[in-house]
Amino acid sequence: MKEPSVHAPPRPPVMCPGCPHGATYYAIKQVAPEGTIYPTDIGCYTLGKAPPLEMADFLLCMGSNVGTACGFSYATDQKVISFMGDSTFFHAGLPGIVNAVHHNHDCVIAVLDNRTTAMTGHQPHPGPEYDGMGNEAIMLKVEDVVKGLGVQHIEVVNPNNLKKTMEAFKRALNYKGTSVVVSKAPCALILPKSVTEGSFEIDQEKCTKCNVCIEKFGCPAFYRDGDQIKIDETLCNGCGVCTQVCEANAIRRRKK
Ligand code: SF4
Ligand code: SF4
Repeated sequence: MKEPSVHAPPRPPVMCPGCPHGATYYAIKQVAPEGTIYPTDIGCYTLGKAPPLEMADFLLCMGSNVGTACGFSYATDQKVISFMGDSTFFHAGLPGIVNAVHHNHDCVIAVLDNRTTAMTGHQPHPGPEYDGMGNEAIMLKVEDVVKGLGVQHIEVVNPNNLKKTMEAFKRALNYKGTSVVVSKAPCALILPKSVTEGSFEIDQEKCTKCNVCIEKFGCPAFYRDGDQIKIDETLCNGCGVCTQVCEANAIRRRKK
């Protein structure tokens, strides 16, 4: 085979700019103790395995996140936080939660509820208020379902509020037994235009080049330009979460 004259640049897997899963992972990393085990599942949130977040330690098959979390909590004295999306929850997540509650396994089950089945093309599931044909349907809430399954400690948070998300996971980690945190915010790709309009930029005068936005938070809209760090206007979806990670207060909304 003929060698191509130009090679495509390597493109490591990343989550989308403004992805609420990235915010959830960042918040958890701020509060979970070192050594916490993160079983995960099948969905776009599996991409959290990539640096800088690295929030996936173990994946067996769809629906396995809670079962493996139970096993890790039983076999180790480490904290365990498992991940699954809302679609996986309705498809294959419920039996594992029944088992966790029945045996009172000490683990945190994070349901990353982005209101759709993002990885395979935004198919609906029982969570939204419409069915597969776009007709009105009865919306099932993850938090109501897990309450019905007997989970005693349930938190519902908007991951785009990092402080509140950190507090919720701290409480869940301190709870002895099975807890569920529903981290609920729409997928960045299905947000209405009114929410996604506008983008953010970095005030170079204020930026201390601490690199937290690139090396710890990791929104792919950030890039290095010489010795400056910038936000790609065409990638930024205007979620504003990065303003909460920048201690220098250097990130601001771009003027139109
Ligand atoms: S987190 Fe803020 S101060 Fe640090 S490099 Fe990013 S923009 Fe600059
Ligand atoms: S506002 Fe910040 S976190 Fe959100 S997409 Fe833009 S650069 Fe990324």
